[in-house]
Amino acid sequence: MSKCFATRMLPILPYLLACLLCMPTAYLQAAAPKKFTVVIDAGHGGRDPGAMGQIAQEKNINLGVALKLGQKIAANFKDVNVFYTRKTDVFLTLQERANFVNQNNADLFICIHTNAAENRDVCGAETFTLGLDKLASNLDVAMRENAVMLLEEDYKTTYQGFDPNSVESYIMFEFMQDQYIDRSLSFASSVQNQFTQQYNRKDRGVRQAAFWVLHKSACPSVLIELGFITNRAEEQFLHSTKGQQTMADAIYNAFVEYKHQVEKKTALNTPKTTKTTTQKSRSNTQTEGKPVYKVQIFSVKSILSDKDPAFKGIENADYYKEGNLYKYTVGEETEFQKIEEIRKNIKKKFPDAFVIAFLNGKKISVKEAREME
Ligand SMILES: [Zn+2]
Repeated sequence: MSKCFATRMLPILPYLLACLLCMPTAYLQAAAPKKFTVVIDAGHGGRDPGAMGQIAQEKNINLGVALKLGQKIAANFKDVNVFYTRKTDVFLTLQERANFVNQNNADLFICIHTNAAENRDVCGAETFTLGLDKLASNLDVAMRENAVMLLEEDYKTTYQGFDPNSVESYIMFEFMQDQYIDRSLSFASSVQNQFTQQYNRKDRGVRQAAFWVLHKSACPSVLIELGFITNRAEEQFLHSTKGQQTMADAIYNAFVEYKHQVEKKTALNTPKTTKTTTQKSRSNTQTEGKPVYKVQIFSVKSILSDKDPAFKGIENADYYKEGNLYKYTVGEETEFQKIEEIRKNIKKKFPDAFVIAFLNGKKISVKEAREME
């Protein structure tokens, strides 16, 4: 009986072995963290030019900035998937754009547009999140950007009776919840901060309005209005390669800042898994009311990617912001002795590095900290 069983098992043994060998790989694949996915949406396209200027069309400015932004993210982050709703001059409906975001399980959705106004003096950049309370305030922008629906033959069915030009249609937004609002607002303020503080663009602030494309996307999302195509100087700036690169650089910096924040928060909220995570959550609970020391290695005007050569191979550098500068630090200790050791260890790479101190997240002098220790 047993002999018979063995003979029957023999031919399938190689398969069993193969299966066993495959198991760890399958397990690893399942356990690998999902890549951060950003969808970049160049507004309008194809038969929908968007706002028209003297020399430029909105759709082309949007696409120029979108591609430059995506290229920079892809070049600096191997752990980020960059997807574009369009990479060429093609028409897409708002519904198609939102579907694309959801199908790709995006973590962040960035819509890029250019503004227009009757008054040619009006200029400046603004960043919108989906707004659910103060609907009336920015209704004009929302109506103009939503109006692309009217180019679709069957828009009433696709958008369930929503009429982009009727004020009544917007009332439905008032009863909706947006679970992504905090993160959307956080990214929006980073974008505006970059535009205005780092790149001297005129600030029209973070605003809220009822954009269909943001409403239908299941992730944090913003709609950026780069500037006014109806303002002569701003049109020339946004039409130029240099201007488009400037705007892409600003949004890129905001992206780096946002991703850093999100990852920090996730690390604090999941106290098991990696080594860094445990260290961070431990220090978070134990350092309340105690001075914390860090080693400052350098300051820069814009955020760097984790792989930047400026770090000279040092991983896990953190930063804090002071004025217009991002100040990068290494280590996090409650004992001066220990932070001094870290400073000495990296002295060869960073001879000018020095110790700084914080109390409950606020910077204090090292002298004060040592007296408290
Ligand atoms: Zn637009």
